[in-house]
Parts: sequence; C-alpha cells; structure tokens
Amino acid sequence: MREKRLQAAWDRLDRRLFVDRPLQSVAHVDAPLPIGCGQTISQPSLVFEMTRLLDPGPDDTVLEVGTGSGFQTALLAMLSSHVYTVERVSVLGERARERLGNMGYSNISLRIGDGSAGWPEHAPYHRIMVTAGCAALPPPLLDQLAPGGRMVAPVGPRMEQDLLLVTRPLDGPLRIESVMKVIFVELVGPYGWSPADRG
Ligand code: SAM
Repeated sequence: MREKRLQAAWDRLDRRLFVDRPLQSVAHVDAPLPIGCGQTISQPSLVFEMTRLLDPGPDDTVLEVGTGSGFQTALLAMLSSHVYTVERVSVLGERARERLGNMGYSNISLRIGDGSAGWPEHAPYHRIMVTAGCAALPPPLLDQLAPGGRMVAPVGPRMEQDLLLVTRPLDGPLRIESVMKVIFVELVGPYGWSPADRG
C-alpha cells in the first residue's frame, strides 16, 4: 500500500525543476547531476529506493540532513506530515527554500547550518534521512530517532559507503542492516567529516 503512495508521489515529481536550465534536458537520466558548490542532486533510482526503505507514513515527522536541491525533500513532504530539512551550504539552502516555497509546499521547515547534529528542537523524529556520506552514524541523530523509527544513512569511507537502514524497536537495541553499496558526497560537520580531513 505504502509503495503505491510512493509511486504516486514519485510520478508527480519533475526533476527538471530541481536543476539549472542547462541540465534540464538531461534531468531524466538516472545519474547524479551537479547543483553547484561541489554538490549533487542524487541519482533518481537511489532517491526512490532510499525513500522506499525509509517508508514514511502520512502522520510521520521526518528529519532530512542535506537538502541539496530539495528534490528528496519534496518527495518526503508529499509522503509525511512535516519535513525538517537542514542544509550546510547557504547558497543551496536558499535556492531550495525559494524553489520549494514556489512549488507551494507548506509542510517543510528548512534550516541552514550543520545537520550532522540533527535538529534537536523538533526531535524525536519518526524518520531520519541522511543524504550525505557519514564516517560513522552520528550519535545525535540516533538520539533523535523516535522509538519505532527508521533512519537511512550512507556510512563508510569517502570512496564508498554502506547504505544503512537503522530501526529503533519500541523496546530493545537498535537494528542496523547494510542494504547496498553507494557513493555520496561527504557529510561535513562536528559529527561528520572535517574539511581538514580531505585527502
Ligand atoms: N538529496 C539531495 C537532493 O535531492 O538534491 C542531494 C543531497 S547532496 C547528495 C548532499 C547534501 O548534503 C549537499 O547539499 C551538502 O551540502 C549537504 N551536507 C553536507 N554536510 C552537511 C551537514 N553537516 N549538514 C547539512 N547538510 C550537509
């Protein structure tokens, strides 16, 4: 049933609206594309799969770390009650804010700043989506995941990460499952990579 909702939301998303004009003719290609500032809009099939794994429901609040173009944010907003999204790069965050506002989304709150420490003021979240590669699962994000919640995050070295599905049962320890190998740009911040680490 949830997959049907996801497919219906997906069919309403037009990726051309999330990239610059010169890239609009290739927006349908299943590949990451540059969005400026050294960042990318993720491969569409991966956005779909990560959202399927996250499985947001209509009453869920979602934290997204790494707004980027806002493409994933828009999809999450169609599927959940509210999306709190954090983008570190201010130019990208402002662009996404304007774009998502023009599209009429009223259930998105966007903050520019570090998301590696989450957004504690609105925690706990039923769902947490991390769209940048983490060296390790950021402890504050685990703390902000509600009982019964799910988190999807790429975790591992810079060149290749494991896409982890983390579930917090109502009681008992966290369950962590590696779903596939992925390559993401870095999560930079106090609970991510330090810019000084760049090799
Ligand atoms: N899902 C996005 C989309 O649909 O366009 C793509 C996200 S892009 C792969 C990863 C984003 O994470 C980049 O925009 C990057 O600036 C952002 N980022 C990296 N470290 C961050 C941090 N600590 N807090 C918030 N955003 C961060």
